[in-house]
Amino acid sequence: MSDSALTRDEIVAIANGLSLPTQAFVNGEFVDSASGASFETVNPANRSVITSIASCDAVDVDRAVSAAQATFDSGVWSKVHPSERKATLKRLAELIDRDRVELAVLESLESGKPIRDCLDIDVPETARCIEWFAEGIDKILGQSSPSGNEALGLIVREPIPVVACVLPWNFPLMMLSWKIGPALAVGSSIIVKPAEQTSMTALKVAALASEAGVPDGVLNIVTGLGETAGRSIGLHRGIGAVSFTGSTEVGRLFLHYSADSNLKRTVLECGGKNPCVVLSDAGDLEAVAKHAVNAAFWNMGQNCTANSRLIVPRALKEELLSHVITESQNWTMGDPFDPDNLLGSLISDEQFEKVNGYIATGSAEGADLVYDGKLGPNDGGYFVSPKIFDGVTPEMTIARDEIFGPVMAVIAVDDDEHAIRVANDTDYGLQASVFTRDITRAHTIARRLDAGTVSVNCYSEGDNTTPFGGFKQSGFGGRDKSVYAYDQYVEKKTVWIDLS
Ligand code: NAD
Repeated sequence: MSDSALTRDEIVAIANGLSLPTQAFVNGEFVDSASGASFETVNPANRSVITSIASCDAVDVDRAVSAAQATFDSGVWSKVHPSERKATLKRLAELIDRDRVELAVLESLESGKPIRDCLDIDVPETARCIEWFAEGIDKILGQSSPSGNEALGLIVREPIPVVACVLPWNFPLMMLSWKIGPALAVGSSIIVKPAEQTSMTALKVAALASEAGVPDGVLNIVTGLGETAGRSIGLHRGIGAVSFTGSTEVGRLFLHYSADSNLKRTVLECGGKNPCVVLSDAGDLEAVAKHAVNAAFWNMGQNCTANSRLIVPRALKEELLSHVITESQNWTMGDPFDPDNLLGSLISDEQFEKVNGYIATGSAEGADLVYDGKLGPNDGGYFVSPKIFDGVTPEMTIARDEIFGPVMAVIAVDDDEHAIRVANDTDYGLQASVFTRDITRAHTIARRLDAGTVSVNCYSEGDNTTPFGGFKQSGFGGRDKSVYAYDQYVEKKTVWIDLS
């Protein structure tokens, strides 16, 4: 039977039979936190406690860093032949494929994401991402410098011994693979801190990495809260680089941590307030509406590239909006374990309150709530149905703040210049979508949008081959995905050889 043919009852049975990882993973072993503290992890789709997870602090981070450094120094991973690391990581990808159903159910259980996405997108893309970075291991070459006949300048890439990856909860597995794929590939040893809301799939992947042959101490998972485990990572002097994905607010803290400790390299992938720019010649508006709704509501809008602003010419607005509302009705929301649902719950009480607060602010500031989606059968979790606000102006709070929920703001504009001005009128610059049938206009507008990724006639973040990251306050210091991602975890060393 194919995974997508699983019924809700079968998925519930799998969830009930899961063995839940609850301890941190340090030096190849599952361990309690040194203090013995733990925190509860909650199923956001019914607000019940799933289990308790080890709550690590500075002592645990220190242990993990020592293990990581010792393993790096031993060379069992950092110095093995690249083809060996490649084979091991390809095995890890195969094991993720093998355990895909269990991983998907665990991901859905802890995050409230629809099982359908976990099975069809999150888990397979995680495996493909690890595989992609594995394949690159023996294909990235060094360089020599154009320094004349008297010398040979070599530019070699050396892994940073101990690196940390600090993760968000919105795509727990995919963000894990975007970070550990390249970091493992170059030979670094890693400390991962998953978001406290979603620790379990990272722990499960660590066990699979061990099974695949990744040596003890190379991949450590330090579970815990941001202010304890996260902060200790940021301030640790034994960590040479941190790759962070999360809010701009916490990203900023990591720059402070770096400045206050060892100037560790810091790469930030942060928030977004992304525009979907529809031009007057966008063509089939029904097709555009499908992309726009997917861009706004996928993953319940808890998506750093969510197109939360629909920017549309005044003359097209009514027609486009009517297609957008019709399409939104297809986005059924309810029990995440029901494979028919395209949308599940928000992640937490905090997020539930925050998103509902923005919805109230939207109405209070005069925007017009023209669509409020239906909520299907569920067990009383943190569900917020999709909302569409018309009559939004660029200065309104819902047009400026990253809401991280299923809320679309429709902004009418006069012409292309006005559209570009509104699209760029934000502190963020992660992604933008443009719809036009005119290739010249598409290129011209793509060049003028302040965004790390611009997709044309679709909503997309690209694929494993394309770099991902933001302009302005959406990002800093490096890129995830593509060959550029390896650079986050390596130092470039010049070797200068006298030939005179
Ligand atoms: P968050 O910033 O609250 O948390 C991210 C991580 O930082 C978590 O592991 C958390 O425990 C840790 N953290 C929290 N407070 C900390 C502190 N004081 N010190 C050290 N660490 C701390 O973000 P989130 O709520 O988990 O995720 C949502 C955010 O992530 C959104 O803003 C979204 O746009 C962003 N995001 C960005 C990308 C991207 O690639 N640009 C991808 C996914 C999510």
